[in-house]
Amino acid sequence: MSLQRVCILGSTGSIGENTLDVIARHPERFQVVALSAASRVDALAAQCRRWRPAYAVMPAAVQAEALRAALADLPGTEVLDGEDALARIAALPEVDTVMAAIVGAAGLAPCLAAARAGKRLLLANKEALVVGGALFMRAVAEGGATLLPIDSEHSAVFQCLPQDRAHWDAHIDHIVLTASGGPFRQRDPATLVEVTPEQAVAHPNWVMGRKISVDSATMMNKALEVIEARWLFGLQPERIRVLIHPQSIVHSMVVCRDGQVLAQMGTPDMRGPIAYGLAWPERVACGAPALDLSRAAALSFEPVDTARFPGLQLAWDTLAGPAGSTAVLNAANEVAVAAFLDRRIRFDQIHAVNADTLAACAPAAGETDSLDGLLALDARARAAAGERVVRLGG
Ligand code: NAD
Ligand code: MG
Repeated sequence: MSLQRVCILGSTGSIGENTLDVIARHPERFQVVALSAASRVDALAAQCRRWRPAYAVMPAAVQAEALRAALADLPGTEVLDGEDALARIAALPEVDTVMAAIVGAAGLAPCLAAARAGKRLLLANKEALVVGGALFMRAVAEGGATLLPIDSEHSAVFQCLPQDRAHWDAHIDHIVLTASGGPFRQRDPATLVEVTPEQAVAHPNWVMGRKISVDSATMMNKALEVIEARWLFGLQPERIRVLIHPQSIVHSMVVCRDGQVLAQMGTPDMRGPIAYGLAWPERVACGAPALDLSRAAALSFEPVDTARFPGLQLAWDTLAGPAGSTAVLNAANEVAVAAFLDRRIRFDQIHAVNADTLAACAPAAGETDSLDGLLALDARARAAAGERVVRLGG
């Protein structure tokens, strides 16, 4: 076991904090080399005092200046800012492992940098893969990176598969991603127009950042995860299915070619998949209590009510569409969720923004071949989604 030197992109978020919690349990295994955040200077400053990273990044110059002032007595930490600073810390020669825990497409550039630099890349930032798609996977292959899933469903599938990826296709008939159904699984659909941001972010099983919590309530999170699974496991979209499992104990399943079903279970605590990614192929204590099935509630499963959750189908629709359609969907959804959290549109209008933006914004040929092309497509889709938000009255 050699010391892993870790960079955490998005260290002040829910995944970032949980990553540091796991790392704190194993000081002999992990060393924090770089941390980053986009806001909350105080929180990042406190992390720097605790972890003494060589680098800390805040992309905005004003905030970076405030962080420098807060860390004036801590000469060992260099504070970087600017557009390329995240990609720079993700590719540092003194970094072995990058935890990608930024939310949204903003994480794509540093993920690509980590992939091209051949890092061990722990991917929580699903939007980066949804936007990056084939380009992202090419960067992983060409850079010789090791891509390890952190999303609990994908970690579950990964834990059920043979270590040698060359066997995956022969092993898998299809996979089943489980979904809790979020806070509105049983709510009268007619009342979804009244949902407030506070209600939407109150997830029954998981404590998460605001954006993914809203995505769980619309089930757009599961749509993004279907797209994520398509790339992580190299599966045709029809080999990816979704099942509601309200207790969030079975984190996902692999249905094998011989009809046998492998499932991974655990308490709903992200430190489980994070510790698995950090220690893989070994296992280390993660801090979450082990699952005790003698005390667990009954486990239940049900099909998805697609009328209640119309966004889910957009995963298969965009995967069947022109390359780049998933990037358009992601951009629209980021804009729609932000507008909902700002109370500019209603909860049920998130889907309208997503569907209308997909109809209005077609990817151009070749746009998905480069990071610049993808960022241009992302910007165009955001503009189209923003117009739709305004037309809805927001
Ligand atoms: P969060 O909002 O709690 O934290 C996001 C982090 O990224 C913060 O440190 C923030 O400062 C930083 N950040 C935000 N915007 C940025 C930008 N434009 N540039 C640079 N940094 C930026 O989010 P989270 O819940 O921790 O989720 C992070 C990612 O992990 C998301 O992609 C989410 O879908 C995924 N994920 C989260 C969970 C969970 O339990 N929270 C589970 C599975 C997957
Ligand atoms: Mg998940």
